[in-house]
Amino acid sequence: MQDIRLTATARVNLPTPIHYLNKLADHFTEHGEVLRTERKGQIELDYGTAIIEADDECLLLRAESDDETGLAYMKFAIANHIIEFASKEEPKIKWAGDGAAGSPLPYFRQMQVLSAHNISPKMRRVRLRGENMHRFSHSGMHIRILIPPANIDVPQWPITGEDGRPVWPEGEMKLTSRIYTIRNIDPESGEVDIDVVIHDGTPGSEWALNADKGGVVGMTGPGGGDAGDAEWYLLAGDETALPAIGRIIERLPSHAKVIARIEVDDEAEEQSFNSQCFLDLQWLHRNGAEAGTTTLLEDAVKAVPLPSDGERIFVWSGCEFDGFKAIRKYIRKDLKLERTQHLVVSYWRRGVADD
Ligand SMILES: Cc1cc2nc3c(=O)[nH]c(=O)nc-3n(C[C@H](O)[C@H](O)[C@H](O)COP(=O)(O)OP(=O)(O)OC[C@H]3O[C@@H](n4cnc5c(N)ncnc54)[C@H](O)[C@@H]3O)c2cc1C
Repeated sequence: MQDIRLTATARVNLPTPIHYLNKLADHFTEHGEVLRTERKGQIELDYGTAIIEADDECLLLRAESDDETGLAYMKFAIANHIIEFASKEEPKIKWAGDGAAGSPLPYFRQMQVLSAHNISPKMRRVRLRGENMHRFSHSGMHIRILIPPANIDVPQWPITGEDGRPVWPEGEMKLTSRIYTIRNIDPESGEVDIDVVIHDGTPGSEWALNADKGGVVGMTGPGGGDAGDAEWYLLAGDETALPAIGRIIERLPSHAKVIARIEVDDEAEEQSFNSQCFLDLQWLHRNGAEAGTTTLLEDAVKAVPLPSDGERIFVWSGCEFDGFKAIRKYIRKDLKLERTQHLVVSYWRRGVADD
C-alpha cells in the first residue's frame, strides 16, 4: 500500500523573499534539521516537513506530514513566523491542499471535566475525558486548556484559518488558554489527568479549583517537551514541571540512570513516582520563599557532575524564566551540550500572565 503524505502549498508575495527564507532557516535550526541551498530550505520538524523556495517576488511554501495534526502544525508554524518576521509587509498567506480553512482544528478536542481533587496542598489533579484521544498519548506531553467564559453553556471553539493559524472566538465568547502537561493518559477510555499548581486566584488556578463542578473545556495539542533518547538523564524543574518530570521518570526503562532535582514549597508538596529506572531524586524546599525568587534549582543543576564514562546524556529542565535563562546558559555555554542533548524551557514568568 502506498503511504499517503498530506500536503499543502502557498505562495507568499514579499519584497526580498531570500531575506525571509534566511530568517526562517535560522529560526528553525533551533527546533529541527534545516537543509539549505541558496534559494531553498527544507525544514524537518518532529511533526512534518516544510520546503520553502525563494524567487525574486515570493516565497513558495510546501508543508507535508503523515497526519492531519502534523500538517496543521507545519502550516501554523511556517505561517506564524513569516507573519511575525515580515510584520511590516502584512503578508497574505492562503494555503491550498489538505486541511481546509473553516474546519475544526485537527488538534482540538472538547473535554468533559470528570473530577478534581488535591494531591498535595498546592497541586490539584483535574481528570478530563474526550473522544479520539490516541493522538494525545504520544509526540508531546503538553496541551493548552481552553477555558470558556463563565456563564456560557455552549462555548465556541477555534477553527482553522486560511493562513493555517487558528481563528479564535472573540467578544463574550473569548476563551482563556493556559499550557499544562498531560500527567496520565488512557487513550482507550479517553481520560487524561492534568496537575495544576494552585496560586493567587489566577485563571488556571480558579478553573482547577472549581473543576469538581463539572463542565467542559477545550484542549489543543499535544506539543513538544519530552526528554530525548539517552542512558543518563538530569531532570530539573519547579512544581509546574513536576507533572512532566513524573511522566518522564515513569516511562524510562530500568537501565536508565536519572538524576532529578525538583523545587517545591515544602515537604508536603513532594510526590512519589512509580518508576523502574535508577533514580537519584532530591527535593529542594523553598520553605516559604516565593516561587521564582531563589537560585535553588540553578545551584542544584550546577552541583550535578556529568558522567565521565561516555554514556549518552540528556538534560531536561522546566521552571520560571530567570531560572530557565541561568540553566540554559550553563548547559549551552559551560557544558557545551548539543541541541539534541538538552531541552530547557521557561514554564512561566514571574509577574507576567500567560495571556
Ligand atoms: C510546556 C509547559 C508545560 C506546563 N505544564 C504545567 C503543568 O502541568 N502544571 C502547572 O501547574 N503549570 C504548568 N505550566 C505552567 C503554567 O502554564 C503557568 O504557570 C501559567 O502561567 C499558569 O496560568 P495561571 O492562570 O495560573 O497564571 P497566569 O494568569 O498566567 O499568571 C498570573 C500571575 O501568576 C504568576 N504565576 C504563574 N504561574 C505561577 C506559579 N506556578 N507560581 C507562582 N506564580 C505563578 C505569573 O507570574 C503572574 O504574575 C506549564 C508551562 C509550560 C510552558
